[in-house]
Amino acid sequence: MSVRTRADLASLPSYVPGRTIPGAIKLASNEVSAGPLPSVVKAIAEAATAVNRYPDNGCTELTGRIADKLGVPVDHVALGCGSVTLCQQLVQATCTENDEVLFAWRSFEAYPIVTHVSGAKQIRVPLTDEHVHDLDAMAAAITPNTRMVFVCNPNNPTGTALRTEEIEAFIAKVPRDVLVVLDEAYKEFVDDAHVPDGVELAKQQWAAGHDNVAVLRTFSKAYGLAGLRVGYAVAQPAVADALRKVYVPFSVNAIAQVAAMASLDAEDELMARCRAIVAERTRVRGELLAMGFDVPETQANFVWLPLGERTAAFNEHCLAHKVIVRAFVGEGARVTIGEPEENEAFLAAARSFTS
Ligand SMILES: *Cc1c(COP(=O)(O)O)cnc(C)c1O
Repeated sequence: MSVRTRADLASLPSYVPGRTIPGAIKLASNEVSAGPLPSVVKAIAEAATAVNRYPDNGCTELTGRIADKLGVPVDHVALGCGSVTLCQQLVQATCTENDEVLFAWRSFEAYPIVTHVSGAKQIRVPLTDEHVHDLDAMAAAITPNTRMVFVCNPNNPTGTALRTEEIEAFIAKVPRDVLVVLDEAYKEFVDDAHVPDGVELAKQQWAAGHDNVAVLRTFSKAYGLAGLRVGYAVAQPAVADALRKVYVPFSVNAIAQVAAMASLDAEDELMARCRAIVAERTRVRGELLAMGFDVPETQANFVWLPLGERTAAFNEHCLAHKVIVRAFVGEGARVTIGEPEENEAFLAAARSFTS
């Protein structure tokens, strides 16, 4: 090719999406297995008739709905084309070359990519032996160049969650010009009262003068709209404004905006689904533990099996049983909690794994 691309592009890791194989059960992408609610499909179909028009660039109505629901002013909410895009916008808004973005590892695999694309430097702090964020080590890793810290709670792919007092103690150690981002993509699956609602925690931090706390949420997981790409940030107005500055115009499309509002209308029904997934999570983890697998306690819609060198074999074994899991070779496998019969198929595969 004669086109000259960035010299560092080759070193950029590619995002690896969960695999889709016809006829196989997909437990690889933390999606909700149940399809969209009829009321949401109806809203999507109606919105389809107006797609000759550009979407509302400010997502005004949806922003208002989210602000109302969370009890924050509208200038504290910024929408994005999926919260992964908001991750990228946050890095773009806070970092230039040589600035540092800090995060735990292993965590959400988009963090290294969005950091690298922006030309910033990534600082990875290993999880503890219990697969939890090592907040003491993270605080110690902050330098004068640190601009942002991602705290994924619950953590993808381990499912482990931090408690309120742990996060508060961490924020107390972070300089106030460093943005702390609580990525709460799986918040709706949390059932441990010690794990904070990040938005409530952020409100308290703001009231205490810590403006440097922001929260990311998404409609992709609990709300079942992964295919439509819509997420949001809740932050102080200056941070939300910064996000809007680097927003790719019209990137939250019109159908996504309408579907998100229809999903807020159907929140009770969707949250009932989440509770069923949480019950299945408890059952699946219990069965895996009984089979002798190590499975950290999880607050998300997936379980983590730290299989180390056995991960690749486990992945192949599950595929042979027509179950797709998400393998991080050499580390472990992440398995999404699906419908009961899907989970049964996975458990049957796990039960016959011997190597
Ligand atoms: C799935 C996920 C997201 C992003 O979801 P979007 O579909 O981009 O909204 C963000 N953070 C974490 C940790 C995730 O697992």
